[in-house]
Amino acid sequence: MEDNYRHKGLRKKLVNEIRKKGILDEQILNAFMAIPRHLFLDSGFLEFAYEDKPFPIGSGQTISQPYTVAFQTQLLDIRPGSKILEIGTGSGYQACILAELGADVYTIERQKKLFEKTKKFLSRFPYDLHLFQGDGFKGVPQHAPYDGIIITAAAPEIPQDLVDQLQIGGVLVIPLGEGSVQTMLRIVKQEDGSLQRQQFGGFRFVPMLRDSGND
Ligand code: SAH
Repeated sequence: MEDNYRHKGLRKKLVNEIRKKGILDEQILNAFMAIPRHLFLDSGFLEFAYEDKPFPIGSGQTISQPYTVAFQTQLLDIRPGSKILEIGTGSGYQACILAELGADVYTIERQKKLFEKTKKFLSRFPYDLHLFQGDGFKGVPQHAPYDGIIITAAAPEIPQDLVDQLQIGGVLVIPLGEGSVQTMLRIVKQEDGSLQRQQFGGFRFVPMLRDSGND
């Protein structure tokens, strides 16, 4: 599928909408302008691609709502070259936003089928993304430490393995909670290993799961 002037116009409207909702970082808004979100949805769903809503991407999973992607990205404080680990690759959209901001992106997806589909799809983008299939609760220790870790599924707890893989001063962005609404937390790892937490509003995510990923 192509990316034409009509798509760009729809994207501009979406960017204005998330700006109105409080995302003011121009670099993040530019990244949203740069990434054609309609390509991440199955064709035929163009009309939904530029609404500020989550959308099913197959295998029972969703591409997060654009505002949520922007909000979590803002909490990460990305600088060019920041080494970021994403838990829950899903469609790959969030990973591309991070890469467009200049981050060095590591991302892990639990579901094998979705992982394979997304891996193939992402090869059309110019980003050098590091993709892994496996259990995000365990992180990707072989490439640690990370400047930031972003969890894009509802986490039942703060995974200790992920805290261990964070740099001192590094940021963990985590939607925490098992109910239908999660609390967004921004956690900074201190020099003495303790965690400084800041709490944000409620968001809805699909659950972070522990089993094998063959579903
Ligand atoms: N970041 C994604 C949105 C993902 S939805 C995007 O931009 O499209 C959450 C994703 O987390 C789903 O794809 C789900 O399969 C994945 N997931 C759930 N539990 C996981 C785990 N333990 N490890 C890695 N990925 C997990």
